[in-house]
Amino acid sequence: MTDLSKLPTGKLFINGEWRGPLGTGTHPVINPATEEFICQVAEGSAEDVDLAVEAARQAFHSWRNSTAQMRRELLNAIADGMEKRKEDLVQAVSQTLGCPEHITRWLHVDGPIYAMRYYAERTAEMEKTEKAGHSVLFREPVGVCGFITPWNYPLHQFVGKVAPALAAGCTMITKPAEITPLQDFVMAEIIEEAGVPAGVFNLVPGAGSEVGAALSAHPGIDMVSFTGSTRAGVEVAKAAAPTVKRVTQELGGKSPLIITPDADLEAAVRWGCEDVFINSGQTCTALTRMLVPAERYDEAVEIARQVAEDIAMGTNENAFMGPLSSARQREIVRGYIQKGIDEGARLVTGGAEVPSGLEKGFYVKPTVFADVHNDMSIAREEIFGPVTCLIPYKDMDEAIAIANDTEYGLSSGVWAKDAESAMPLVRRIEAGLCFVNGGEFNYDAPFGGYKRSGNGREFGEAGLGEFIELKSVQLPA
Ligand code: NAD
Repeated sequence: MTDLSKLPTGKLFINGEWRGPLGTGTHPVINPATEEFICQVAEGSAEDVDLAVEAARQAFHSWRNSTAQMRRELLNAIADGMEKRKEDLVQAVSQTLGCPEHITRWLHVDGPIYAMRYYAERTAEMEKTEKAGHSVLFREPVGVCGFITPWNYPLHQFVGKVAPALAAGCTMITKPAEITPLQDFVMAEIIEEAGVPAGVFNLVPGAGSEVGAALSAHPGIDMVSFTGSTRAGVEVAKAAAPTVKRVTQELGGKSPLIITPDADLEAAVRWGCEDVFINSGQTCTALTRMLVPAERYDEAVEIARQVAEDIAMGTNENAFMGPLSSARQREIVRGYIQKGIDEGARLVTGGAEVPSGLEKGFYVKPTVFADVHNDMSIAREEIFGPVTCLIPYKDMDEAIAIANDTEYGLSSGVWAKDAESAMPLVRRIEAGLCFVNGGEFNYDAPFGGYKRSGNGREFGEAGLGEFIELKSVQLPA
C-alpha cells in the first residue's frame, strides 16, 4: 500500500519550490472508513496566497507566450506521470474519501488521466485565428487563476480546472478541500517532475474561509473557478465582484430521473438507485429524485428496496459503497433521513441507524424513501448521501413540472423505451446534463449547470473556452 505519510504535506508548493507555510496552522486528514489518522496537512494563509499570486503573475509573462507544442508535451508528460503514479492517486482519493479502491480506480482516476490527454491535444486551439468581417480574432489566456475544489471527486475537479488552464496558457493557484487534499500533493509532484516552469502551478492548501476567501478576493487573480456548495459559491462570487474577476461555479444539484411508462422498469430503477448510491451518494449529479409513473409505482418501490438491500458496504473488492467522507457529513445525512420520516415520507429501507457490523467508519445505509412529495425537504435540498426519493407522477406534463420544480439544474436523466423516444422529454428538462437510458459520463462533453447549479462549463471544448479571452483586432477595411 502506498505510504501517503511520505507526501510533503507539511509544505506548500509555490514558485516551483516546496516551502513551509508562513503560519503554523495544520489540518488532520482522517480515513473515513477506519477513522484512523493519516497525516497533518499544512494550512496556508492569506499571506501565502499573496506569495503564490506573485509567483503566478511573474510566470504568466512567459507561459502565456509558450508554444502550443511545448504545452502539449508538458500536459502529456503530466498524463504519463499520472499513469506512473496511478496507485498513489487511487490511494490518495480512496483513503481520504472512503470510496473502495477498485471503484476509485475507474470512477476517480481513469477519467482525469483521459481528460489531461484530451487537453494536451487541444493546446493548438489557442493559436487559431478567426475572421469576423474586417476584424481578426485572437485567443489569449485569461491570466492568473484561483481554483477551489471540493472533496467528493477531488481529482476529477482538480483536472477539470488545471488541465484546460495549462492548455490555454494560464497560471494558477489551487486549493483542495480540507478533508481530501492528498491527490493535489501527488499532482504537484507530478507537475514538478514533468518540468512545468516555476510559478505556473502553485498549491496552497488551507481553510475555505482563509485561503479560499483570499483567492476569491485577490486583485492579482483574473479568474476564480469554484466547485462546491451553492452557499460557498455565492460567497466566492461576492468576494470576486469588486475586482471584476471571471467567476465559474460548479455547484449543487437535486436532479430528477424520469422513468417513462414504457421503460424497462427493472433496468431503469436499478441504474437510478446505483447512480445515487455510488460514491456513497456524494455526487453532485446524483439523480436523487426518481419520478415513476403512478401505475408502476409499487413495483418500482419494490425494485428500489431490493437494489438498496443488495448493496455491499465496506472497502474491499466486493464493496459497492464505502462510508461518508466525514463524521460531519454522516450527521448531515442522518439528519435528512430523520427529517424525511418527520415530514411524512415512507422509509422503505435503510435509515439513520449505524449499519450492523460497520460501527467503525462513517457509514450510512443505502436508504429509499417512497411517498415523497416534491415540496418535502428531502426532495428540495441536496442531501449528499445514499438517499433516494421515489415520487409518483400521473402524466408526462406532471413529470416535467416536478422535474423542473427545483432551484437547481445540474443534471437529469430520462429512461424511456429507447433513446429516440426520450428526446422530446430531454428537451423540456432545465438542466445542463441529461443521462438517457443509462448513458455514461463523457469527458469530451461540457459539464455544468443551469439555474443555481452554477455558471460556466468544465470538460470538453467548452471547458477550454472558460480560460480564453477573445481579442478583436479591427483592421482597416
Ligand atoms: P463546500 O462549498 O463547503 O467546499 C468546497 C470548497 O470550497 C472547499 O475547498 C472549501 O474549503 C471551500 N470554501 C468553503 N467556504 C468558502 C468560502 N467562503 N470562500 C472560498 N472557498 C470556500 O462544499 P463541500 O462540502 O466541500 O462539497 C460538497 C458540495 O459541492 C455539494 O453541494 C456538491 O453538489 C458540490 N459539488 C458540485 C460539483 C459540480 O461540478 N457541480 C462537483 C462536486 C461537488
